[in-house]
Amino acid sequence: MNRPLRLESEDGKLYIRNSKKERVQGTSLLHLREIGRHTLAVVVPPASQRRYHGDLFIGAERQGALTIVNSVTPNDYIKDVVASEMPPGTPGEALKAQAVLSQTLLLRTGSRNDLGDSTEQQSYLGAAAERPEVNSAVRSVWGKHLYYQGLPVIVYYHSTCAGGTSEAAQYFGLKSGSLPYFKHVACSKCSASPFWHPTRNEIPLSVFAPAFGEGVPTILKRDEAGRALSVKLANGKALSGYDFWMRLGQSFGWDKAPGTRYQLTSGRDGAVVIESTGAGHGVGLCQWGASQLAREGKDFRAILNYYYSNCEVL
Ligand SMILES: [Zn+2]
Repeated sequence: MNRPLRLESEDGKLYIRNSKKERVQGTSLLHLREIGRHTLAVVVPPASQRRYHGDLFIGAERQGALTIVNSVTPNDYIKDVVASEMPPGTPGEALKAQAVLSQTLLLRTGSRNDLGDSTEQQSYLGAAAERPEVNSAVRSVWGKHLYYQGLPVIVYYHSTCAGGTSEAAQYFGLKSGSLPYFKHVACSKCSASPFWHPTRNEIPLSVFAPAFGEGVPTILKRDEAGRALSVKLANGKALSGYDFWMRLGQSFGWDKAPGTRYQLTSGRDGAVVIESTGAGHGVGLCQWGASQLAREGKDFRAILNYYYSNCEVL
């Protein structure tokens, strides 16, 4: 009703501030229901605001935190995911390719399970991301999924491969021959992406050393697409190229190495210089490449087939 409801959490209990600024104890779980097509807004001071389709369940946690779970129909979820994943200006066939993949991921996850809203699963910014051209792309491929030999595929996609995608089995260190539809595919279609060009960052040794040892790690082996497969740390310990990249992002922020095609060199005063191209892990569909393929006249099936070998949309 356009009146904000102010919630606070303390010792696992939820409190509501009423209009007289008095604090009233509520239950430990609050269920806010969607009315018609109105969306519910969540404002987390000072700056964060999201709007959501569907219902919200707000719970109080022991440490004074609030957990917010959005219960949303699969259709609204997919529309808002595709709109969050693909920027305005993305051609329709690329939106459809993304919508098929997002539905396939949901099919594999099962709609009863909770999903996160970060790019670890799929970016989900809620109803504010909604765009009419995305809604019509989702409508035209609604109910379609990507299959390999009768089974829905495991879904991988990323922003920019910057030259080629990686074979999943080799890159993720899986049993040889697993996920055969993720082969190395050459791709220069993503050259309009800002991540096509190298991102260069220097991390002082004093910051780098506690996480990875005193010195520049050595890349022992790369795959066909140029991604590190094996990285040896200065302390002698070896990590897969993917695990090293994940730890790098978790330790210093994802902006330090947005892509997995990275070089490691030594900078001033022993600092570690990381130069990377691309954005994301580099397996499966390249989103910037998909947009370019659509501009060149490819339809969503051809786009999906470019990055997923021998798969079919059903
Ligand atoms: Zn690409």
